[in-house]
Amino acid sequence: MLHSATFMIVLRERPSSMSEPSIVGLIPSGKITSSLLDVLAAHILGLLYLPVDILPPFDPPPGTYHTGRNQYHVGYLLEFLAAQQNSCRKVLGVASYDLFLPIFTHVYGEAQMSGKAAIFSIHRLEHISPSIEPEKRSTSPHETFFLRAAKVGIHELLHTFGLSHCRHPDCLMGFVTRLENLDALPLYLCHSCRQFWEEVRDM
Ligand SMILES: [Zn+2]
Ligand SMILES: [Zn+2]
Repeated sequence: MLHSATFMIVLRERPSSMSEPSIVGLIPSGKITSSLLDVLAAHILGLLYLPVDILPPFDPPPGTYHTGRNQYHVGYLLEFLAAQQNSCRKVLGVASYDLFLPIFTHVYGEAQMSGKAAIFSIHRLEHISPSIEPEKRSTSPHETFFLRAAKVGIHELLHTFGLSHCRHPDCLMGFVTRLENLDALPLYLCHSCRQFWEEVRDM
């Protein structure tokens, strides 16, 4: 419900921002649909008022893949993304493959704190808990997936603006290690994170 409502509001407001120079570049990698990129762009514009440019896809460079883990090293991917030449102030990678850091089994996403690049993976976002009966789910699996992707993507993007993790129970900047935590996160910021965001967004 929240997702659908947000999307409709964004579509009505979108034209006035389209003439501004783009700030956030979305860069897909792997199997990423254009509808997912459109949903992400709409949420970034709708929630953060930042225009988005969808950039050409990239292939993960050699050396980022770990054969034993069958995953990609998120730190190396961030360095690669940050080094790309484009006019965007921030870049957000959207990967279909699984990401890791050596101390974790996997990560949903990662960002350069107050830097240029962030990236997240949809690899683990489509899982629907079999313990929840279909009729008791408040959103369809498709909506749940889009909502999760928007939350992780915007959370990581906000790290590049200097927002750190927040302990407020009702804030998108909460630290997440499991899908249940992610589903419980709201798609908005608490009052203090919102204030911080409004101070840094144009810096
Ligand atoms: Zn985080
Ligand atoms: Zn907060």
